[in-house]
Amino acid sequence: MSRFWSPFVHDLVPYVPGEQPKLDNLVKLNTNESPYGPSPRVLEAIRQQVDDRLRLYPAPDADLLKQAIADFYQVTTAQVFVGNGSDEVLAHVFNGLFRHTEPILYPDITYSFYPVYCGLYGIDARPQPLADDFTLRVADYQQPNGGIIFPNPNAPTGILLGLPQIEEILQANPDSVVVVDEAYVDFGGESAIGLVDRYPNLLVTQTLSKSRSLAGLRVGLAVGHPELIEALERLKNSFNSYPLDRLAIAGAAASFADREWFDSVRQRVIDSREWLAAELIRLGFEVLPSAANFVFVRHPLHQGAKLAQGLREQRVIVRHFNKPRISEFLRITIGTEEQNQALVSALEQLL
Ligand code: PMP
Repeated sequence: MSRFWSPFVHDLVPYVPGEQPKLDNLVKLNTNESPYGPSPRVLEAIRQQVDDRLRLYPAPDADLLKQAIADFYQVTTAQVFVGNGSDEVLAHVFNGLFRHTEPILYPDITYSFYPVYCGLYGIDARPQPLADDFTLRVADYQQPNGGIIFPNPNAPTGILLGLPQIEEILQANPDSVVVVDEAYVDFGGESAIGLVDRYPNLLVTQTLSKSRSLAGLRVGLAVGHPELIEALERLKNSFNSYPLDRLAIAGAAASFADREWFDSVRQRVIDSREWLAAELIRLGFEVLPSAANFVFVRHPLHQGAKLAQGLREQRVIVRHFNKPRISEFLRITIGTEEQNQALVSALEQLL
């Protein structure tokens, strides 16, 4: 500990991001990025911004991007918030919407940034254990004076909750903010954005990091009632007036305009997931039903940590979590057809 650290900093338990190895001869299936590049229209829109205008600040409200999102989802710009990755959007959610309206419920086995934000902002967190089959039990989410957040599909399990169940949670908690984190929804789920006009307590967050192949651009968004969005804007303007740079605003807006590219890439990922799931079952793995761009799997005869290590020795990187209940599992991002084949061949050597 440094003598310059406050006790607060000393006690922080930060998020540990997945490894981003420098070597490019690896089959990198560990952090759920897209295996395909972004739409050519995105690249062109970014190129168009690379000139003298970089000396100027970007639009503080990123209006071009908000309009593109509003058009895509058939909502108004007053229902849209954007930020520097959905991690930043979630930081504002925890800091502003959840702090002082505790406790906050989220699944026990979920995105590990939620407990980190609760620690950072001193929020009373009440993780709700998943059922034995790793599904979320709707009846556990009753919180009259707090908040609720869960990813849909959940991470790292990949299991999807249907919109009727989400509506049940919204109806049971009309006075609590319910946040649905849809980082992976484009790979087989149906967005809850269609419900925002009926439920003023609903906030849906999404990212451009997965289905839009833009993890490197850092853009996330939230859609909800204008009052929730206004709260997030207040938070944002108390923290950083320009969270998105000019390139990110232009590139992200172009992504929402290219529906054809978006549909073809996510369908390719879905098809590859189904192929990979069948191959893993053939190799004896238990594969949880996934609606995401990854699969969560365990082998009855081989330890998760050992498999992850064995794969690494063959230059295939997957994610292993040293956590209760899931330490036998591997989370494997869906790669290109070649990468998925390389993973299967590496596993055939190991098993
Ligand atoms: N939510 C979930 C469930 C995630 O898995 C991730 C990706 N790690 C994020 C949010 C954050 O994504 P990003 O900050 O890249 O938008």
